[in-house]
Amino acid sequence: MRFLSTRGAPPVSFTTALFNGLAADGGLFVPETIEPWTASEIARLPRRTLTEIGLRAMRPFVRGELDLAVLEAVVVEALDFPIPLVKVEPGIFALELFHGPTLAFKDVGARVMARLMAALHTADDPLTVLAATSGDTGSAVAYAFHRVPHTRVVILYPHGRVSPTQEAQLTFFNDQRTNVRAYAVAGSFDDCHRLTRQAFADDDLRKRMALTSANSVNVGRLLPQSVYYFHAIAQSPDARTVSTPSGNFGNLTAGLLAKRAGLPIDRFVAATNVNDVVPMYLDSGRFEPRASVQTLANAMDVGHPSNFERMAWLYDGDVAAMRKDISGVRITDEGVRTIIRDAYARTGYLLDPHAAIAYGAVKLRNGQHEAEGESKIFLATAHPAKFAEIVEPIIGRAVDKPAPLVQALARPRHIVRIDATYEAVRSILTS
Ligand SMILES: *Cc1c(COP(=O)(O)O)cnc(C)c1O
Repeated sequence: MRFLSTRGAPPVSFTTALFNGLAADGGLFVPETIEPWTASEIARLPRRTLTEIGLRAMRPFVRGELDLAVLEAVVVEALDFPIPLVKVEPGIFALELFHGPTLAFKDVGARVMARLMAALHTADDPLTVLAATSGDTGSAVAYAFHRVPHTRVVILYPHGRVSPTQEAQLTFFNDQRTNVRAYAVAGSFDDCHRLTRQAFADDDLRKRMALTSANSVNVGRLLPQSVYYFHAIAQSPDARTVSTPSGNFGNLTAGLLAKRAGLPIDRFVAATNVNDVVPMYLDSGRFEPRASVQTLANAMDVGHPSNFERMAWLYDGDVAAMRKDISGVRITDEGVRTIIRDAYARTGYLLDPHAAIAYGAVKLRNGQHEAEGESKIFLATAHPAKFAEIVEPIIGRAVDKPAPLVQALARPRHIVRIDATYEAVRSILTS
């Protein structure tokens, strides 16, 4: 399928969109057409497995560029963990997106993207993936590409500015001879970002190697995220409301694409922390990005959400049309603490700060507009053990850590430091 730019540049193939990340005019790629699912395909969803749904949802986008058998292998290998819908209380269900290797939903998009890139990279030289991260994206990318043939990953993160858990996950592969390495840059996240931009702008370097980014706006990450919206409805066919904890709004945009393809979701809740640029837009009709504020749900601390450009494109800039499908809800840190404590006390279900915002947003809206008795889904984007230092004092007890996390934390850290200079980065890339 061809992909358009939100800013109007000529269309390109899926492969080009995947490896370029951004359109030539700086816009974001969007699919030229969204093929609808038939009513009988939707009706049969409850009898489909996650990988069958993944294959069906991804197929139109790669048609003509990737064989069905190869796509099937991509989906089967990438989605090798469950995405269960768990009842939290009557009428409210958590779609648990945190059963992948890094215990957060970014595993879904990153794992599919990694395998799509490997399948579509045809040059003899291995593909080099260069990514800057402030935390979670980097570990999802590291684990996603680990042992994917013909790829090499270089991750830059700001030394001393990621959490101990994040650093343990980021550097997990550093002491092994693998295709993935994370470097602790003596600088800020902005330095890491600047260094990757310099590399992508280095024509001489790009002649010498196949270089790509694993940016969060990449279509290879965005499109697979629509798969679990179908999988959610497959598990609860009567649910019509989905609440998505949002920062850069990739997750919510993937839900909107699923709706355009015929998935019967009537209402999306755009649940944010105090970085509420999109809920404000839904209120006022004005999109006013601003500097981000640090919160407990730090993966959602985004002051200028990139995917808003895709949302505006989908609705042709019509805020009234967007309001028919999306409601905004904003929740403070104090609210997050109350929600985690209350939900745990009442139901025994433990929320991480991000899922707490999505759950809290559903509860706030409950009884306001919707008919009673309709079931609602919220997306649980991270395992609470990933945020144990926040959650434990709130509930007053230790959180059980899943095995992959225990393993990452127990491993001696192998930190590779580099200066925040382009020479340092270039020499890593060319060595
Ligand atoms: C990245 C992230 C989010 C926000 O997702 P967006 O697609 O950026 O809106 C929410 N929760 C967790 C745990 C995340 O890592």
